[in-house]
Amino acid sequence: MNDVTIIGTGPAGLTAAIYAARAGHNPVIYAGLQHGGQLTTTTDVENFPGFREGIMGPKLMEDMTAQAERVGATVEYEEITKVDFSSQPLKLWAGDKEILSKTVIICTGATAKYTGHPKEQSLMGKGISACATCDGFFYKNKPVLVIGGGDSAMEEAIYLANLCEKVTLIHRREVFKASNIMLERAKKHPKIEFLVPYVLDDILSNDMGVTGAVVKNPETNESKELNVDGIFVAIGHKPNSEVFLPYVKTDKAGYIETTKFTETGIPGVYAAGDIADPHFKQAITAAGMGCQAALLASKFIEQMES
Ligand code: NDP
Repeated sequence: MNDVTIIGTGPAGLTAAIYAARAGHNPVIYAGLQHGGQLTTTTDVENFPGFREGIMGPKLMEDMTAQAERVGATVEYEEITKVDFSSQPLKLWAGDKEILSKTVIICTGATAKYTGHPKEQSLMGKGISACATCDGFFYKNKPVLVIGGGDSAMEEAIYLANLCEKVTLIHRREVFKASNIMLERAKKHPKIEFLVPYVLDDILSNDMGVTGAVVKNPETNESKELNVDGIFVAIGHKPNSEVFLPYVKTDKAGYIETTKFTETGIPGVYAAGDIADPHFKQAITAAGMGCQAALLASKFIEQMES
């Protein structure tokens, strides 16, 4: 039986693994389908402390994995497909393989939604991004496009407008999901231009990355070519929580609700990182939550055994 089983190898999962391993719990961490999480889809990371010149997202995750393994964590490149948290020991399955564990730390993250344009994935990190806080700085004094009509799109547009030369925001409908206050704030910003209803029709690029976008009004078919260096897709995230239902409580969007720090309310089960955080979604906040979860798991095991 494992002391600590961690699901997900983003910054939350790997930080939890480092802390649990150093506390002598030999954690087993399941990498799932996207080893390294969302950071593997970014290029330079300049806001994770400790890297003077910044670090490439995939390299950061490779180093965190190596660090976790060096202190005693075991990484299994398998996906957890089913769980049973109804009693101790907690049960998990990777396909047919049954795993028993005293504690489980869920760090399965959230997946940013993208438009599905055929050129989008190959330009990830080369002009296409789903995180203004992470990548906005690379577009300082340059024109960018934001896609979306919710609070995330407004927040990203305002953040980018304070850095970039100009922000064009397109949304597919006249009506916005964003709260009035956020919408008004974005509309009032002198550097943000709204184009509605408009959708992304084409992405223009060269060897270096994105050079522009063609956007189309779906009602009139009128097209516009925009000279932009970055395209920020802000059309929502999908938290990866399905496997843990009905055991954990989630909000309407599917984020796991935690009570105190990372506690899910199920004894020995914790949730850390983007899976439990619809607000900040940063590598450093995820890492902090991973640390909290591992410390709580360690305390739980001590109490169980005393
Ligand atoms: P939302 O689901 O609220 O909004 C997503 C937006 O993207 C919608 O306008 C939707 O359009 C559009 N969209 C979805 N799919 C596509 C697509 N394929 N192509 C083009 N457009 C698309 O997600 P958010 O991430 O904005 O917000 C999630 C939650 O987090 C909300 O509850 C929000 O209030 C909250 N939040 C709060 C913030 C704050 O208070 N500071 C900041 C950020 C988020 P349509 O409307 O047509 O469906």
